[in-house]
Amino acid sequence: ENVEASTNGGATTSLRNGRKTGRDDFLEMVEQAFRPASSRKRLGELSEGLRKQFLESMEDNPLCMLPSYNHQLPSGDERGTFLALDVGGSTFRVALIELSGRDAGAGQEGRILKGATFKINHGVKQLKGVLFFDWMAERIEETLSGHTGGHDMSDAPLSMGLAWSFPIEQTSLRSGLLQGMGKFFLAADGLLGHDLGDLIQASCSHRGLNVHLNAIVNDSSATLLSKAYSDPTTRFALILGTGVNAAIHLPVHTFAPPKFGTRPEEWHRCAEHVIVNTELSMFGAGILPSTIWDNELRSVHPNPTFQPLEHFVSGGYLGEIVRLVLVDGIHTAGLFGGVVPPTLRESYSLETETISYMESDRSENLSKATAIFTSRHPRPSSSPPSLSDIQAVRTIASLVSTRASALVATGVHALWCLRNESESIAAHQTEHTLVAYNGSVLENYPNFKSNCQGFLDQLVEGSGGRRGVVELIYAEESSLLGAAVAGAVAALDVDDVVT
Ligand code: BGC
Ligand code: MG
Repeated sequence: ENVEASTNGGATTSLRNGRKTGRDDFLEMVEQAFRPASSRKRLGELSEGLRKQFLESMEDNPLCMLPSYNHQLPSGDERGTFLALDVGGSTFRVALIELSGRDAGAGQEGRILKGATFKINHGVKQLKGVLFFDWMAERIEETLSGHTGGHDMSDAPLSMGLAWSFPIEQTSLRSGLLQGMGKFFLAADGLLGHDLGDLIQASCSHRGLNVHLNAIVNDSSATLLSKAYSDPTTRFALILGTGVNAAIHLPVHTFAPPKFGTRPEEWHRCAEHVIVNTELSMFGAGILPSTIWDNELRSVHPNPTFQPLEHFVSGGYLGEIVRLVLVDGIHTAGLFGGVVPPTLRESYSLETETISYMESDRSENLSKATAIFTSRHPRPSSSPPSLSDIQAVRTIASLVSTRASALVATGVHALWCLRNESESIAAHQTEHTLVAYNGSVLENYPNFKSNCQGFLDQLVEGSGGRRGVVELIYAEESSLLGAAVAGAVAALDVDDVVT
């Protein structure tokens, strides 16, 4: 029975035609479906496929491989106080950041003087167009009104940097055109192609806020900038939380001129490099190893083709993939006594956080995993699930999360190959390079980061590089710090384009 569907797309409503199997057979079949995706050979092929897709989209694809207009890595001398905004998949954060320079050393380079975190709940995600930006401005006002740090609103405007965890077609360091947002946000509705900087500035002005937005960066570029501020060997960044993305520092000559909007000549004449927001989430169409459950996820997704890779790896989806496999196993192999817990009937009702806690329980009786699962998904009969049911959830979760770590590593490896090629560096000569990472899955999901590093090492070795030469390094508070660094870099870059 072939359970590994060959291509993306195609609804699979009656999974395997409802055929019944035993519990062990079912789990073995699940393993057969997920495991091969992380074999060395498959990952090598996939990396090659992704690299080709990157190259193609560097010609003229307006949705990915997006130049950030940051043509210089920070020198580490940038200093000052900035208001940093971080719009993420589930929170909006506002913070006053003080940059003290690389010399300050050991985590002292950037400090949060004051900050606030606001949850972006379902209602906020549903705010359409300007209403969302008005909501942001209100939160900024709330944060600043309690601000006793001495910024008088009648002074010169407070300079702001924004980390935006969504695609954006940048037109300069401080402006960019709004694109479809994903992550179930509606803010871009009716505003596609409008300038994000203007929208935010207008909402802030309406509330009388004396602020000036002078930098916009995607959260992946922010992460690269934040780490490069303290460590100059940083050339990549990786985000894996609700969504997935990567940023890369690349020579300008690798890009076709249309990528630089209205002023391509200036870029090609003056700048050597540019930080690129890859929008990694959007790659992989047609080459990712889809199972029947992945197909099912897409068949009911409102935007099934927008971010193919994201659907396999990010925190927004891992729980849902596990849920789909589990529900199949309940129906066809009698897991959970053949009864789906009512709270698991709805799409996205099994959170990635839940399976993450469950995987972290290494005890023999799995008491913690059982407690967490049953508190969130009680059985109708109030009879607790059996140990083997809980074990089955963990087995499925581990297959899904291991595959995700392998696919993410493949994306990073493909970018590393791309950079080596465009810098004419032979794989065996590459120097130690940092991949700054941030995001809840990489930070909190048990073993995810170390698995990812392991797959990356394999891939790097397979293409002639030394093990460990590409190293994933945690970048703390990377969105806020990166937004502040971007603000500082932009403040120096009076010309907007290149110096
Ligand atoms: C967005 C990216 C973002 C990433 C991580 C993706 O869904 O398209 O712009 O960087 O999530 O937050
Ligand atoms: Mg974030």
